[in-house]
This record gives sequence, structure tokens and C-alpha cells, in this order.
Amino acid sequence: AANLTRDFKVGGSLFAKPKILRAVDDVSLSVQRGETLAIVGESGCGKSTLARMLMRLIAPTSGEMEFEGRQIDRAEGRTLRELRRDMQFIFQDPFSSLNPRMSVGRLVGEPLETHAPELPAKARRSKVAELLAQVGLRAEHADRYPHEFSGGQRQRIGIARALASGPKLIIGDEPVSALDVSVQAQVINLLADLRDRLGLTLVVIAHDLAVIRHMSDRVAVMYLGAVIEEGPTDEIFTNPRHPYTMALLSAIPVAEHGHTRQRIPLTGEMPSPIDPPSGCRFHTRCPFARTDCKTAAPPLRDTGTAPGHRAACHFFEEIAAEAPPPSAPQD
Ligand code: SF4
Ligand code: MG
Repeated sequence: AANLTRDFKVGGSLFAKPKILRAVDDVSLSVQRGETLAIVGESGCGKSTLARMLMRLIAPTSGEMEFEGRQIDRAEGRTLRELRRDMQFIFQDPFSSLNPRMSVGRLVGEPLETHAPELPAKARRSKVAELLAQVGLRAEHADRYPHEFSGGQRQRIGIARALASGPKLIIGDEPVSALDVSVQAQVINLLADLRDRLGLTLVVIAHDLAVIRHMSDRVAVMYLGAVIEEGPTDEIFTNPRHPYTMALLSAIPVAEHGHTRQRIPLTGEMPSPIDPPSGCRFHTRCPFARTDCKTAAPPLRDTGTAPGHRAACHFFEEIAAEAPPPSAPQD
């Protein structure tokens, strides 16, 4: 995906022109086959809008998207139907994303009817049983209804439904954030396991870095509609360069990564995307901000510390030299 932007008109009346909310601003991302990309940020950073654009549930205002070498940002008709088969979405809330009046068998079987209408009913039933087994549910569950299941089981049903069309790419919008902490890891492990067994490509949206640490190959950190840092997951965790990423990492309990970090508290609220700060969009909350940061917008540039590691901060070299990297072990 290149230079993706998505605007929403908000407000607006007879007397005032609607304001433009730029939810996603010039984002470029790519994910390789079989790879897991995590997109991380606070609520309101534009990550869900980005995920919906990638799925073509909403169209980009501008920018280009390619899937397996094909231009898809304006796809329609047959191309769009093929995309609907190849790319599937897992929703944040397993409680509201499943129709309560449909049995589990119908919920999982419905995409089969759409994408493989030639399949006889009997074959469809055994395919449903196979899909349920893949997500750790039993064939008997097909006759039951969503309300009879726990949150974690409902998310498994959502995953089985997503797998039914035989997708190549699955996008999960905070797929575990509505679940109890105790079941989050199970669902994450299931997704990682399915990815490996079925050769899937995953894009996982999360607000919590800890959740994606062990399953993602690469991380893109978003702030106010823009990617402000991206790189290989281990590199982002051990060698973050953008002060915002450092602040997000500061919020993770030290016990979970075994290092002592310099703490960078994240103060203040995220500014409104309707009226984003000038220059570096993080300057209103950045402990390292200088005068220049208010006027000049920092481009994403290579950090030089690992291939593919890029950060959008004017001063990351100086910041890294001044303070030891937040992840440096102390002895
Ligand atoms: Fe902070 Fe300035 Fe870097 Fe932005 S460019 S992250 S305000 S130091
Ligand atoms: Mg969201």
C-alpha cells in the first residue's frame, strides 16, 4: 500500500464547511507472503481505518494498493469478489460481529455458499466440521448458537468463518482486546499456528505492544494517522528510536521483557486529528521536543541500526546518544 490517505467529513452545516478529519495520512506499508505485520497505536491513531481500507471495506481518498501484483484500490466486480475471498477480516468484538440468530454451522458455512456454491450440502457440512476442528472446536458445536459460547470460543468461530473462503491474507482488528487476558494468549497462539500451517499472511492491529511481540515479524507504530516508526519486531522492542515508541514500551511491565528501561511517560491526550499539531505531530507530548519540531515535519528515514528500521524523528541520533536506549540492560 502506498501513500494511503483517508479523509472523513465531520460536522458541517449550512453555515460552516465540514471539517476534514484525516484519519490516515500518507501511509505506505507492505507485507510479504507468510509474514506477520503488526500495526500498533493508541485508540484514534487511524489503525482501524487503515485496516478497513486494506480490506477495501472503505475506499482510500487517495493512494494506491496492490495485492499480489494487482492494483486493488479501485477494484470492483469480479476482482473485488476475488479479493473478498483472498482477504478476510477478524473483528475486534466477537460478541457483536456474529449474527446471534445463526447457528455456528450456518455462520461458518455461509462464506462457503458464497465462495464455493458448487459444493454439495453434505460436503459443506464436513468442511464446516473441518474448519471448526482447525480452530479447536468440535463438530457438535455447529448446531449451537453464539450466545452459548465464551468470548474466546466466539472469536474462534469468527476465525473459522474467516478461514472458510480459503484466504491468503487475514487482517485482525484488535482480535483479542475484547477477551479476558487469560484467553488472549490462546487466541494469539491459534492465529500464529494457523498462519504457519496454512501459509497465511497476517496483519494484526493492536493497541498493546506486548500482545504482538511473539507473533509478529515486523511492527509499524502509528500516531495521529501516520506511521512514525517501523521495523523488525525484535529491533523495535530492543532498539526503539522514536520517543513515542519508547513511551509505549515504557508502559509494558519490565518483567515481560527482562530489561530495565529508561521510563518515558506518555503525558497528555492525543490531539484531535481534525486539527493535528504542526511540524512533528508528536511535539505536543514529546519530552525531547525542540523549537524546530513545531515547524518541520520529520520524514520516515532509516535508522541505520537494522535493515527496514525507520523512524520519523529529527533527532533520534542525538536522543539515542544522550540517553542509553530505553531497553539497554543495566548492570
Ligand atoms: Fe520529539 Fe521532535 Fe522527534 Fe518529534 S521530531 S519525536 S517532537 S524530538
Ligand atoms: Mg479501533
